[in-house]
Amino acid sequence: MMTTPTSFLIRHLDAVMTGMSGTHARHAGSAIRVTGGVITAMGNLTPLPGEAQVDASGCVAYPSWVNTHHHLFQSILKGDPAGINASLTPWLAATPYRYRARFDDKLFRLAVRIGLIELMRSGCTTVADHNYLYYPGMPYDTSAILFEEAQALGVRFVLCRGGATRTRQLEAELPTALRPETMDDYLRDMERLIQRYHDPAPDAMRRVVLAPTTPLYSASPEELRTMAAFARRHGVRLHSHLSETVGYQETARKVHQCSPVEFAERCNWLGRDVWFAHLVKLDPEEIALLGRTGTGIAHCPQSNGRLGSGIAPLPELERAGVPISIGVDGAASNEAADMISETHAAWLMQRARKGQQALPDYAGGQFEGGADAATVEDVVRWGSSGGARVLGLGGIGTLQIGQQADIALYRLDDPRYFGLHDPALGPVVSAGRPFLKALYVAGQSVVADDTIPGLDLAELGAQARAATRQLLNAD
Ligand SMILES: [Zn+2]
Repeated sequence: MMTTPTSFLIRHLDAVMTGMSGTHARHAGSAIRVTGGVITAMGNLTPLPGEAQVDASGCVAYPSWVNTHHHLFQSILKGDPAGINASLTPWLAATPYRYRARFDDKLFRLAVRIGLIELMRSGCTTVADHNYLYYPGMPYDTSAILFEEAQALGVRFVLCRGGATRTRQLEAELPTALRPETMDDYLRDMERLIQRYHDPAPDAMRRVVLAPTTPLYSASPEELRTMAAFARRHGVRLHSHLSETVGYQETARKVHQCSPVEFAERCNWLGRDVWFAHLVKLDPEEIALLGRTGTGIAHCPQSNGRLGSGIAPLPELERAGVPISIGVDGAASNEAADMISETHAAWLMQRARKGQQALPDYAGGQFEGGADAATVEDVVRWGSSGGARVLGLGGIGTLQIGQQADIALYRLDDPRYFGLHDPALGPVVSAGRPFLKALYVAGQSVVADDTIPGLDLAELGAQARAATRQLLNAD
């Protein structure tokens, strides 16, 4: 990680997206002053005597992205032919569950590094990883590796500590290395992680979250209630998967005679300190309940699209009061796990979903298409301040005075951005990978001129190819 002065003036910006809502979604000024890692002024500013300057001519500034759902270990499981055309349940068996027993500390560390670098190169500096590589007697510490790799790259990291106290059928015939933990061991490790890593500050670099892999399958209702009480006693948040496909609805109905969101309510798993990945399949009562309780969503449009799961009803959720954030999900079900492609997909898919619901007038229709389902400003807000909100990191996620200087400067010099009437829209509407002039975390430069200092990308690519060969040869 490169250190630069944490006090400087970014000048000559073409446009600024703030991550805020309404008329505050953009800032008209062309400069941002950073003092001691914090944004202290925005506008048309002139340099102070001796002030360091960053020439951002041709650049647009965004709040750096906050990714609220990932499985970094999957970064070396992209495009697995065995799972590429499978829906969620057969895909889980074909790819992540089949391969995860083959991971050792070196493969795990490499996957984490690739995933974090891919995210950073899209302008993301806060990553919540839902890690479920844990089993009794495990010879390496995945939690420590995740925090070490994030620290080495200089990004904020939220460990959502996954795992299971019971298994689902998918794991039945897999090696003993995949057997579940006991509840005591799970909570003991949570205590260790909280003590070692958890910082409750609104601008924390490290957080821990209690996050069994899937509430309906990973633990009993009684255990889920115990986990929720434990988390609230320790002041940590709760996270998991929910209602990704009809499979969740069927299981909840069959086993618990209720909907998945009602099941979560019975287990004390709803509230402002809880967010769920996916929430694709919801009935109106579930949407209202999520909204009433302020439970958040990590919307993962690319994974939901790739697995054919569906499209989460974000406008309905937001109107009900649900905090919206964006997650890339693991790269085994999303072969481009970066925040530019993810937000681009969110923008398109919400519009497509609403348009799909349009009917002609003669059949009772009231609108032609769905282009008003999500603006670019909405999508930027979901991917930045929305993420900060579900993670409880109030000190980040927006470009405004007093906030941490977590800033992405994109220079739109690829032909795909040529001809844009409004450059502020470029990263989301044209997607691709804009040249990252600079990426800051609390004013510290972590990407400069599209390069992570000290990183040899060709070498990383060679290591990734060797790792995929190693995984394939284990068959
Ligand atoms: Zn997931």
